[in-house]
Amino acid sequence: MPEDTIFAKIVRGEIPADVVYRDEHVTAFRDIHPQAPVHVLIVPNRVIPSALDVTEEDEPVLGRLFTAARRVAEQEGLADGFRLIVNCRAHGGQEVDHLHLHLMGGEPLGPMRVRRR
Ligand code: AMP
Repeated sequence: MPEDTIFAKIVRGEIPADVVYRDEHVTAFRDIHPQAPVHVLIVPNRVIPSALDVTEEDEPVLGRLFTAARRVAEQEGLADGFRLIVNCRAHGGQEVDHLHLHLMGGEPLGPMRVRRR
């Protein structure tokens, strides 16, 4: 069932996470394998499996993901900037089928993607 994602369990408080922000639409918590000094995941409280599954009905919660990202960035002192990433399905390298923003920062992050050729 889609509501049984690991992130849904974090939203429901069933498994522990370092939650840095939550409201009625979204929850933000630190990535368990950080790839930057600050690496926070921001997820809708209600499961949307991927960026290919969003609908017009989701627009309020999708907007909230961005305002939550700005709040978390301010909390974490990322005034010099940061990167937001959404991985989608197999080619995007999505591991958890629960839409999420990766918010990464705390140092210059370099090129977005290392070209293979
Ligand atoms: P993605 O590849 O975009 O689906 O990213 C999934 C992310 O979830 C990875 O960066 C994982 O390190 C992270 N992750 C997986 N399980 C947990 C967890 N229990 N708590 C925090 N982050 C997690």
